[in-house]
Formats: sequence, C-alpha cells, structure tokens
Amino acid sequence: MIPDETELLTYAAGQAMDYLAGLPTRRVGATAGAEELTKLLGGPLPEAPTAPAETVDLLTRAANEGGVVASSGPRYFGYVVGGTLPVALAADWIAGAWDQNSGVFDLGPAVATAEHIAAGWLLDLLGLPAGTSVGFPTGCAMAHVTALAAARHQVLTGVGWDVERRGLREAPRVDVVVGEQRHLTVDLALRHLGFGTDQLRVVPADDEGRMRLDELESVLADCDGPTIVCAQVGDVNTGAIDPVGEICDLSHRHGAWVHVDGAFGMWAAASPALRHLVAGIERADSWATDAHKWLNVPYDCGLVFVAHPHAHRTAMLHARTDYLPPGTPAERDPIEWVADFSRRARSLPVWAALRSLGRSGVADLIDRCCANARRFAELLDALPGAEVLNEVTLNQVLVRFGDDDGVTQDVIARLQAGGVCWFGGTRWGGRAAMRVSVTSWRTTAADVDRTVEEIRNAVAAATATASPDPRTA
Ligand SMILES: *Cc1c(COP(=O)(O)O)cnc(C)c1O
Repeated sequence: MIPDETELLTYAAGQAMDYLAGLPTRRVGATAGAEELTKLLGGPLPEAPTAPAETVDLLTRAANEGGVVASSGPRYFGYVVGGTLPVALAADWIAGAWDQNSGVFDLGPAVATAEHIAAGWLLDLLGLPAGTSVGFPTGCAMAHVTALAAARHQVLTGVGWDVERRGLREAPRVDVVVGEQRHLTVDLALRHLGFGTDQLRVVPADDEGRMRLDELESVLADCDGPTIVCAQVGDVNTGAIDPVGEICDLSHRHGAWVHVDGAFGMWAAASPALRHLVAGIERADSWATDAHKWLNVPYDCGLVFVAHPHAHRTAMLHARTDYLPPGTPAERDPIEWVADFSRRARSLPVWAALRSLGRSGVADLIDRCCANARRFAELLDALPGAEVLNEVTLNQVLVRFGDDDGVTQDVIARLQAGGVCWFGGTRWGGRAAMRVSVTSWRTTAADVDRTVEEIRNAVAAATATASPDPRTA
C-alpha cells in the first residue's frame, strides 16, 4: 500500500470508530435537513482534486452536524432496522478492501467459498431442508423478487408453460394469494413479476395480523390453476406470525407454492426457545429474510432460500453465458442465485457473524431482543395511560397512549425531539399507535429502563397539554 493510502484509511477508520464509540450517548434522531446537508456536501462539481482527508472530514461533519440517524445505536426502536455486530462490520471493511467482483467463483474464490459455507450454515441454523438453494440479494424486497420468480417458473411449468421463454402475457392465469397484513414489498415484488395488485387474492387477518386459515381455505377453493400463496412470519407492527405449517399443508393440498416473508421473524427459528412459533416453516417452498435486520450485519444484505434449486436457478437469467467457466457445486457462482451480476461481497459479513457467534450466539442475540421487548411491554403496561395493543411474542411491541390519537402522536413527536431514543408511529385497528422494535445487539435492559422513563415523561407532558388539569391550570 502506498503511504498516503494507509494514512488516509487509518484516519477514516479512526473517525468511524469515534462515531461508534459515541453511539450510546449520541442524539438518536437526525436534526439536519436537506438544505443544510446540501450546503455542507454540495456545491458545483469540484474542478480539480483536493486532499482525500478533507473529503473524509466532510462526512464526519455530516454526522456531527445532525445528518446521521443513530439507528445502529442501543436506543433506536423505529421500523425494524437492526444494528451492526463489530465482527460483521470488520468483515464489511475487509470486503471493501478486497473489492472482489463476487458474482463468480473465479473472480473471488474466497468470497464464493465463504458464501457457500454461510449458505449451508444458514440452512442448518434456520432448520430449512437440506438441498435448499440460497442467494444473497440486497434485501428482503429483492429476496421476494427472486423467490417469487422461482415460484412463477415452477407453477407455470406445472401447466406446460415456459415463462422464461414465452413470457407472461399469453400465459395461463396464476392465482396469487396474499395476507391482508402483508408487507408492501410483497406487492412490489409481485408487480415486478407481472402480477398486478388488483389481481391478488387477499386473505383477511385476525386481530394480531395473522392470516386466517378458514379464510385461506375458502380462497383456495376458488383457485383451480397455478397458485402461489404468500405467508408472513413477523408482522412489522405486531411481530405476529402466520400459522405457517398449516398454511403449507393446506396450500400444498391445492398444489400451490408457498412463499414466506420472514424478513425478521424467521430468525425465531434460530432460537430453541422460540422455534415453536414458526413450527412447520420448513414445509414452505421459498423463504425471504434479511441478514441486515436481525442478524445485525451492515446494509445491504437479504437472504433468499428456495426448496426447488432448479426453479431458482432457471428463474435467474445468468445461467451459463458463454464466457463464464462452468463451476462445480463447491465452486459456487453467486450470480446463479440472485438477479445481480457484478456485486460486492455482501455475504462475507454474514459468514463472519455466523462464524463468530456460533449457534448459541445467534440464539442469544434473538432471545435478548425478545426479552427486552417483553421488558418494554411489562413496564409500559404498568405505565398510567399506556396500553399495549399486541401479544408480545417476538421483538415488536405496539403501544398507544389514551383514547385520543393526538396524544399518541404527541408522545412520539416528543420522544423523537428528545433525542434519547427514537420510535415511529403507525396505525393499528384504525387507531394511532407507537411501534417498538428491539432488533439490536447493543440494546440492554438498562436502555429499556431509561427509555421507558423518557416515555413516562413524554406521556405526562403530552397529557398535560391535551387536557390541562383544572386544578393546576
Ligand atoms: C423489512 C421488511 C421487508 C423488506 O425488507 P428490505 O430488506 O427492507 O427489503 C419485508 N417484509 C417485512 C416483514 C419486513 O419487515
């Protein structure tokens, strides 16, 4: 390495580590707007080179001037995002330094091999059938695209239609069955694959957001051709898990393909204490999940699993162009299992996380998040004015403050402004609610306690503003 390079990268690593060291005390939400950030980072394209360290400094200033959300810190409970394990970040830095084109074995044998090994470990950890094929797309949305392309291939092959060659326009109708509470990325993936939103058959959900089996049964009774059923393991609001084993059995009796959206909830399968929640999940035909959420690797890394490798590989387009040498099974070509062609070594942090945590370390990560979610639920239940709205079986808690939507919204706004923690809002059962997602290895019981104190204060302030007590007003 030339000296400048070492110096610059050591400098940048130092700044990155300062950022990480400051995470527990850093303000959680961002404060800077697009205007300030554009002023800091923008201007006309520089006409000539400047010192690289100056550019690195600008990024650090963007973070220090409120342009970065501390979502990998211990008290970020918005959406479902996950933190980053140090070992996964280390592997990500190395992946960047290696800069392998990770599409084919010959361009990066160590990456392709680590990916092959991680794929096997994931099947073991999540209890999926041996022989299931595994791909590493950018996220769960693209995992859906990949898996549902395989599903489309398989169900249309079943009626003698080669969709890769003949397309969809004149193909036999495919019935696509989805749950009422599905994630919007399922619709996105289906739209990309030619299945319009109005064509979907929607199965109503119960109060927790789970697909209702009786309703599924009557929808399936109406589907007599190629059929795909999309189940969900882990609702973004409640964490609710569809009765996935029963859905598989029922759907398979109708000859349907079952795809599971398990973006975060599927990780329950990696915990002996929680595995029962997803009983029967191994009977599905395809699964989509994320490593960048609950496995706590850096963005962007999704995972797709398909129990029918031939369908999976055929649905991806790259299968053996002329200039790629043929691989052996152990010489994995990652492009066979995702839509990306050239890509970064995003599987390396997954390999590193699994290699370093081991089976019990992953289970502990999942269990600790769930224990902290239960702690939230217990403390919030005891808080005057707070009402926990869901059965807390996983890492998600839904809470509401009083009957007035405005108070709940005000509490969320106060917490976001306070900077100690961060929550987002949602609507559940037609009413405003605050969503709590515990998905980071960094979150401790003490973080939960401190956060609940913040919530207590915010509720008191919001309630006082909403209906001033006549005695003190
Ligand atoms: C986050 C999420 C997705 C989308 O995953 P990305 O990695 O953001 O593409 C899909 N389904 C569920 C249930 C999710 O929580």
